[in-house]
Amino acid sequence: MVKETIRVYARVKPLGRRQQAGSYSVDNEEPLPSLEITVPRDLADGFINNKRESYKFKFQKIFDQEAKQDVIFDIIAKPVAECVLAGYNGTIFAYGQTGSGKTFTITGGAERYSDRGIIPRTLSYIFDQLQKDSSKVYTTHVSYLEIYNECGYDLLDPRHEASRMEDLPKVTIMEDSDQNIHLKNLSLQQATNEEEALNLLFLGDTNRMIAETPMNQASSRSHCIFTIHISSKEPGSATIRRSKLHLVDLAGSERVAKTGIGGHLLTEAKYINLSLHYLEQVIIALAEKNRSHIPYRNSMMTSVLRDSLGGNCMTTMISTLAMDKRNIDESISTCRFAQRVALIKNEAVLNEEIDPRLMIVQLRKEIQDLKDELALVTGKQRTSELSQEELLQLDELIDMFLKDNDPDSSLDVGADMRKIKYCFVHMKVFFLNRDENISEEKDSNEEVEKLKGLLQQRDNEISILCSEEVLFGFEMI
Ligand code: ADP
Ligand code: MG
Repeated sequence: MVKETIRVYARVKPLGRRQQAGSYSVDNEEPLPSLEITVPRDLADGFINNKRESYKFKFQKIFDQEAKQDVIFDIIAKPVAECVLAGYNGTIFAYGQTGSGKTFTITGGAERYSDRGIIPRTLSYIFDQLQKDSSKVYTTHVSYLEIYNECGYDLLDPRHEASRMEDLPKVTIMEDSDQNIHLKNLSLQQATNEEEALNLLFLGDTNRMIAETPMNQASSRSHCIFTIHISSKEPGSATIRRSKLHLVDLAGSERVAKTGIGGHLLTEAKYINLSLHYLEQVIIALAEKNRSHIPYRNSMMTSVLRDSLGGNCMTTMISTLAMDKRNIDESISTCRFAQRVALIKNEAVLNEEIDPRLMIVQLRKEIQDLKDELALVTGKQRTSELSQEELLQLDELIDMFLKDNDPDSSLDVGADMRKIKYCFVHMKVFFLNRDENISEEKDSNEEVEKLKGLLQQRDNEISILCSEEVLFGFEMI
């Protein structure tokens, strides 16, 4: 079991040519790297207020604008992929406002090969490792789920290209008696190598784009969860290890300021996206000590990610930040959220289970080995049933034993469990029959007594009647 807090990283997106830089500084000094953001005093209201100017946030590491995709993969994703290969569950999720680089970080940019993001690099790494390890048999599947407006859609559904997202069967959540979450209508597609897995990713991303219309702005408001499922087994062993790696591109985290333009955006803020609001509630509940109820069930996304948040998982969060002046307040919101996430502790356990078919094969072999050993020791080959001849012999022995009045007499059938069991069954039948005989005898005795009583009663009645008749006759005279 590995118990550790969720690892939280920050990545700052490169500034656009015409963007005005906000003021921030990165300090990656161990052991506590920090990001400091400075906000100019808000003079919009015409007076100097007391609002804080500088905000400092701690992260596992901060990746500034020039950080490349390969470094992001090596430092953030590779350790998680390694845990998943070892049989633990893992999750990496990107959180930040629309345009801050979540999709670029998780999936990558399409223009250059070097812009490949965490998903393709992780697939490549995992298949590479699997190929190198010939000590186990691995099976790999992928699934790609999109959650939009509390509805789940299977991005790998082959019917996608032909129909609108709304017409596809909805992915729904089912909970079993052990409170494990199962997703109905979400397909698990087998991928035997990197190329097949990449094709599935590409298919999902294409479906994601087709579904995106200017009307629903799905990309900024939907969550996408790409999951790699790995199961492994050593040849001949009945133990299977199963693990899942969720790579999550969350919806844009932008908030609507209640105070509006001119007021300070950092005061009270509200989410556009309801399920991110529920995610925040779950995170607040998890960060609080002594909270027994965690509201996972409030939204589909928190239900799906239940294990990744406060459960059996190694979880990592990447806060994506746009540091231009206009977005600095959203970036501060993102950092604040990240600080709460960093308090959550997860306990990742090895997911091992026994394959029942293999277990049967193993047990059969064990039985055969033991039988062989027994035959060697006793010098006799035993079948599971006793022969007719052996049964007759046993009946005779038991009969003799029962009839023998010597209290010291014993019944010796040898060290053979089948014969010993047979004797016990025989004794049981014998005793049951005896009990029955006794109770039958008892019943007939009772019957005789009852009849005797009845006879006595009749006699009494007759004698009374007789004496009355005498009396009556006397009166008539
Ligand atoms: P989000 O998914 O958070 O809405 P995107 O990943 O789509 O944001 O990023 C918005 C734009 O910025 C995209 O055109 C993307 O290619 C670009 N971009 C984001 N992060 C980086 C980066 N680190 N380096 C280069 N371009 C980036
Ligand atoms: Mg995006």
